[in-house]
Amino acid sequence: MSSIVAKLTANRSKFLTQIVFGTIFLLFLTIQPGCRPRELARPTPQMDITQSYWVRVLLLSNITNCTLKIATHYNITNLDTNSVVSTVENNIVSPEEPIKIEITAGKITIAGRTFSSDKLIVYPNQPHIFSLNNNEYRGKLELIINPDSNTFDVINHVPLEPYLAGVIGAEMPDYWEPEALKAQAIAARTYCLYIKNRFGTKRNWDVAKTQASQVYLGVKAESAQVWNAVNNTYGKVLTCKYSDGVEDIFPAYYSSVCGGHTANSKYVFGDSFEPLTGVACPYCKDVAKITLFFWPMAQFDNSTVTTRLFQKYPQLKQLGEITEIIPAEQIDYGTFSRLIKIKLVGSTGKSDFLRAEDFRLCIDPTGRQIQSTICQITKWDDKWAFLAGRGWGHGVGMCQCGAQGMARQGKNVEQILAYYYPGSRIKTFY
Ligand SMILES: [Zn+2]
Repeated sequence: MSSIVAKLTANRSKFLTQIVFGTIFLLFLTIQPGCRPRELARPTPQMDITQSYWVRVLLLSNITNCTLKIATHYNITNLDTNSVVSTVENNIVSPEEPIKIEITAGKITIAGRTFSSDKLIVYPNQPHIFSLNNNEYRGKLELIINPDSNTFDVINHVPLEPYLAGVIGAEMPDYWEPEALKAQAIAARTYCLYIKNRFGTKRNWDVAKTQASQVYLGVKAESAQVWNAVNNTYGKVLTCKYSDGVEDIFPAYYSSVCGGHTANSKYVFGDSFEPLTGVACPYCKDVAKITLFFWPMAQFDNSTVTTRLFQKYPQLKQLGEITEIIPAEQIDYGTFSRLIKIKLVGSTGKSDFLRAEDFRLCIDPTGRQIQSTICQITKWDDKWAFLAGRGWGHGVGMCQCGAQGMARQGKNVEQILAYYYPGSRIKTFY
């Protein structure tokens, strides 16, 4: 070790000189007119893959205009009601200026040209990247006029692997352990395919770009580490045995910090799968920020609590003003417990029940004050206090900070996924 230290010291001044010259050279490059400070965009993979491996992400909904920039040539195609595609504008030269897209008199106008179809696809050439309202995404862009004829939705069609590259860096810091990032990639791939197959057939899109599905930021979430995690797990998903014996993918939920024990999906989302029944997690405590693991007391006025409950669950109005909030069911994890079901009693004496996770997100829709259902609830004058809280998020499936904790201890992606999704198997999907 001492010889390495001596060598480092001897090289230090040479190293510093190199840093100074390197910095000056970089500055020189950066300030050159027309020079782009970032690396050239990597090509978008899978653009010729079969349609069943594409993901449709809802980027914008119910809008009247947006701005597009495409650095390459692009095509615009009509998608009529029978989904027959006809190219109406081929190989358009992209202008330097942003392209304005708007809806007027029930028709979409792109850069001043009005189209008759209520469904259009904008398809940029290689590297298949476009910028929508200054955010870059890969793949194609679909514009659909809503039934009200006054607004339209914008949907990103993107193959699964580049979609994941836009998710992993948004869901997990890219400087985390490579094995944790790989576990995140397999969980996110599985979750996306499950949601697409389950809900995508009933609507124009498969997933939202927010926590409602999983956070997708497009190209700005990408990095070399993120692409490594995606490429090193290419096409891999998690499966489990269903009650009828058939093996299939399941909703591989994950959340930030479980607080010491992951939750059972049955009590949070109402769906039941063998790998989602909950496990003890000794790994997240050393990774998560202390205020995320043990969250500070949150307080809400009784009037706020009552108003929010009535807004989201109008059937609760018959209870009258909420006078009691009682844990009706909880799971004991030893030194702490997770609320499962809440009993609400009103001034009329009537009572009703809510799932604890639904109650939490109704009172605090951001989830940033009442961070989890591992907490105690106490009346404090005219306020409700949420005390002794642990963890952040719904707690079902893989604990993201726990995955990082396991990876730091040398566990690999197979061990991490087997731990948080017991009974699951990693399979190659394509
Ligand atoms: Zn955990």
